[in-house]
Amino acid sequence: MSEIANCRRIVVKIGTSTLTHEDGHLNLRRIETLAKVLSDFKNAGRQVILVSSGAVSAGVAKMSTRRPINTAEKQAMAAVGQSELMKLYSRFFSDYGHTVAQILLTKDVIDNPARRAAAEDTFSTLLGMGCIPIVNENDSVSTEGLNFGGNDTLAAYVALICHADLLINLSDIDGLYDKDPRRFPDAKLIPRVNGVDERILAMAGGAGTERGTGGMATKLLAARIVLEADIPMFILNGKDPAILYELLDGRHVGTYFAVEK
Ligand code: GLU
Repeated sequence: MSEIANCRRIVVKIGTSTLTHEDGHLNLRRIETLAKVLSDFKNAGRQVILVSSGAVSAGVAKMSTRRPINTAEKQAMAAVGQSELMKLYSRFFSDYGHTVAQILLTKDVIDNPARRAAAEDTFSTLLGMGCIPIVNENDSVSTEGLNFGGNDTLAAYVALICHADLLINLSDIDGLYDKDPRRFPDAKLIPRVNGVDERILAMAGGAGTERGTGGMATKLLAARIVLEADIPMFILNGKDPAILYELLDGRHVGTYFAVEK
């Protein structure tokens, strides 16, 4: 695990179900702990990029409305919630002495070489200035065919365009299990995966929670994307973001998707 301890540029993705309470309100304690831990990583000389979901859920909670049912409603709630999210991140990170910068992406930025190069420059300039980029999909203008299909995939592309050393996916589950642990009590956590083949994909099971869009399948596909670019990935349980210290102190937690040498 010493190669993990040495990773300098790290992308951390956190999902909606980890960032919010059951009723969709933002989990302030968790967001604050995350901001504290990531600030400490910065203080220790690492560069951090955060990919955060939660905009739609935060918008719904703020407006005290029902879950959006159509695309326009979802896009409207994302617009409300995204600014709410950034307000909190900005406040918590600045409490620990750091500056955040919002970047909202759509898939066409990744697919278009000129726009992708512009995004790469922006990330590298922000990181050079010591900022913590906080990324989400630009849900308010993103449409079917233009979208990433969820923030697990978005985070994988962010790791690529930031030339990250490591992607950490903070989820509401401890890692990849050999079968669905919510249904099978004897399911075993898989500590290490070398390459995401059909056998591994078959372990993914169904979708995630009602509030998030992810699930294990999108995380495994994200692992496939980053491994192809020689970037390792972890899935960890984000219920206590301090687990990130354990990982970067060299202890084995969660599931490690290793780059095969
Ligand atoms: N971009 C969405 C949001 O911020 C979340 C997408 C996802 O959870 O994968 O609400």
